[in-house]
Amino acid sequence: MKTMLSALFYGARDLRLEEVPVPRPGKGEILVRVVRALTCATDLKTFQRGGHKMIPRLPSPFGHEFAGIVEEVGQGVSGIRPGEAVVAANSAPCNACDFCRIDRHNLCENLRFLNGAYSEFILVPEPIVRQNLYAIPEGIPFERMALLEPLACVAHGVERTGFRMDHCAAVIGAGPIGLMFVRLIKLVGAEVIVLGRTRWKLDAAKRLGADHIIDVSKEPRVEEAVRDLSRGRGVDVVIEAVGIPEIWERAIAITRRGGKVNLFGGCEAGTAVRIDTHALHYDEKKILSVFHHTPRYVAAAYDLLVRGEIDEKILVTETRPLSELAEAFEKMERREALKIAVAP
Ligand SMILES: [Zn+2]
Ligand SMILES: [Zn+2]
Repeated sequence: MKTMLSALFYGARDLRLEEVPVPRPGKGEILVRVVRALTCATDLKTFQRGGHKMIPRLPSPFGHEFAGIVEEVGQGVSGIRPGEAVVAANSAPCNACDFCRIDRHNLCENLRFLNGAYSEFILVPEPIVRQNLYAIPEGIPFERMALLEPLACVAHGVERTGFRMDHCAAVIGAGPIGLMFVRLIKLVGAEVIVLGRTRWKLDAAKRLGADHIIDVSKEPRVEEAVRDLSRGRGVDVVIEAVGIPEIWERAIAITRRGGKVNLFGGCEAGTAVRIDTHALHYDEKKILSVFHHTPRYVAAAYDLLVRGEIDEKILVTETRPLSELAEAFEKMERREALKIAVAP
């Protein structure tokens, strides 16, 4: 039996590289040789907290952002041949449940998450092959296309938030998700203020088009600083891209009267926030929270990447072999990397 090197997640801070059998594609499935996988803050959170919605049981294959080359196709797969470069999202909806029927595919009751990008090979299930797998045009780097899934989430977040050109927006968090928000909001044409605590990440935000940056580790009066930068009125739209309850509260606090806040960063299960009832009612602050992606946003993200709208060189800060996955996570924890490309 052929075997491959694969990262298996056993629980909090327990990630092991093991030799496992190479899966064979069944009907409608595709086996992909991973060329580049990308580390993701969600994986880091899972690694630290010991679990996540995307990981139904342990031990679990790990990693969900990848691009590679088709190794083998299962029965009934048409239009894709071995040797082709492809990228896929990490889930696909069932199109049959109540949520799918009302066009809320991201809430699909049967979303099947695909993990196992930190491996030499990954088996892509039939619903993803059919709905969320794309060929990579020649000459486009794998590490750029591997941004497909997080960018699809951000495209979903941007559209559902309803950005307009005359908005002044604040993005809290200068990690990869916050930075992708900056770029897409700038494509819409709004003004963007970015709040973060790591100087070089804030500089990356500038390179992606941020109009203003605030280093919250050096700014004792964050709310005033935001107000000053938004001509004294506060920001129309706030994106929380951190996923910490206190930051959710700050996001609501810096939103102006009549403004909107998208609490995009997922917090740990069991946590709660306090919301000022007057802010909600008398100030008419609108709160929404957008989760995950749908095939429509995966398609939009694919087009953005193929057109070269996202500079992967800003977001993917280094490449490491699979054997150094643990070091890659440690580096992310020390805030010394945005995304790390893993090369099995
Ligand atoms: Zn991700
Ligand atoms: Zn469904």
